[in-house]
Amino acid sequence: MVAVTKTVSASLVREAYECGLRHFGENRVQEAVAKEKSLDDLRGVTWHLLGHLQTNKAKKALGLFDCVQSLDSLRLARVLNGEAERCGNRLPCLVEIKVSEEPEKQGLPPESLDEFLARADEWPFLSLEGLMIVAPYFDDPRRARPYFRRARDLFDRNRGRFRGERPLLSMGMSQDFEPAVEEGANMIRIGTALFGERV
Ligand SMILES: *Cc1c(COP(=O)(O)O)cnc(C)c1O
Repeated sequence: MVAVTKTVSASLVREAYECGLRHFGENRVQEAVAKEKSLDDLRGVTWHLLGHLQTNKAKKALGLFDCVQSLDSLRLARVLNGEAERCGNRLPCLVEIKVSEEPEKQGLPPESLDEFLARADEWPFLSLEGLMIVAPYFDDPRRARPYFRRARDLFDRNRGRFRGERPLLSMGMSQDFEPAVEEGANMIRIGTALFGERV
């Protein structure tokens, strides 16, 4: 489980750490800067970037995040690879797939995944470890199930092309993590259910 800490204060993140949580997710580079600074004494934490990353912030993101879950374009892959090479470390990434029709949602179109993964050799400093999706919001979370099922299908068809010990399928949030897990998520991202409503 990734604890999603956007808008959550550093002291509350520290409390979550003391409860045993080790994976934290943020949406914005800027917000992560101050928060991580005041938490840099915590050991064994993995910071995940969940929000869209502009290429001009890639360099900064590399200093802040251990995993970028929002890899959504060839251009971003190229830029992140270059920055990771400069740092001399491989950067774990998940490819964000746009499974919903909503225009404001980010992500690579599902039909582009094959070509995207075929070019992975061009980015030796990125470790593509799986997929991330954000399903559309429904009052009845069961209605998100077809989106999770499509993601699982894409994931299964490309399983052998991901790196890492265990390929990751990151899907499911506070509202819909139950159907997501039933459909095969092996990583969920939870904010509200842990920390309360965001203001
Ligand atoms: C905010 C956010 C979450 C967590 O959402 P909750 O509904 O608060 O659990 C998960 N994933 C992404 C990409 C987010 O932006």
